[in-house]
Amino acid sequence: MGQLVLATRNVKKLAELRRILGPVVDVEVLGLDDLPAYDEAPETGATFAENALAKARDAAAATGLAAVADDSGLTVDALNGMPGVLSARWSGRHGDDVANLELLLAQISDVPDEQRGAAFVCAAAFVVPGGREQVLEAEMRGWMIREPRGGGGFGYDPIFVGEGETMTAAEMSPGAKDAISHRGKAFRALVPIVRQELSGT
Ligand code: IMP
Repeated sequence: MGQLVLATRNVKKLAELRRILGPVVDVEVLGLDDLPAYDEAPETGATFAENALAKARDAAAATGLAAVADDSGLTVDALNGMPGVLSARWSGRHGDDVANLELLLAQISDVPDEQRGAAFVCAAAFVVPGGREQVLEAEMRGWMIREPRGGGGFGYDPIFVGEGETMTAAEMSPGAKDAISHRGKAFRALVPIVRQELSGT
C-alpha cells in the first residue's frame, strides 16, 4: 500500500481525508504527527491556493511522500472577501475562534440581512515529490446570522448558515457538514487525481 501525507496536525481533517480516500484509493494517509518534524513555514500567501500549495510542497520535499495540504477560510461579501486568508487570526490572536467570531459580528452589525452573503472556501493541493502539482478550490456559500447558534464545529460555524439550510454549520452533524462543506468538496475533487497518480488508474 502506498503512503500519502496530509500536511496537518488536525485530527478531524485527517479523519475526513481518510474517510474520503479509504474506499477508493489503496493508500495510507499519515499526518504530520506520524512523521519526523520539519520546519513548517508560516502561511504568508495572499490566496488560499498559494498557502495550500506551499504547505504541500514543503511536506513532499521534507518527507519524500506524495502530499496533500489544504488552506481554508471565510470570505464575507460585505467585507470585500475578508477575513479570507486571515480567518484564523482575524482578531489578532491566532486560533481564538470566539474573539474572531465576535469581531466579525460587530463589523457587520449594520449590514442588512439581504447583504450578509458569505462563503467558506477551501483550496486543496496535491504534490508528488519531483512530479505533479495540482491545486483546486471549492466553496460553500451561505449567510452570516446575527447571534451564534450550535455547539459543534469550530471557527465561524456558529454564525454561518449554508445556502438552502436552516441550521448553522455548528448545529449540523459532522457527516452532514462534510457532505456540503468547502473542505469535503475539495477533498472529494482530489480523489481522481490521487488515484491516478498513486494507483495508476
Ligand atoms: P485552516 O485552513 O484550518 O487554517 O483554517 C483557517 C480558519 O478559517 C479557521 O481557523 C477558521 O477560522 C476558518 N474556517 C475554515 N474552515 C472553517 C469551517 O468549516 N468552519 C468554520 N470556520 C472555518
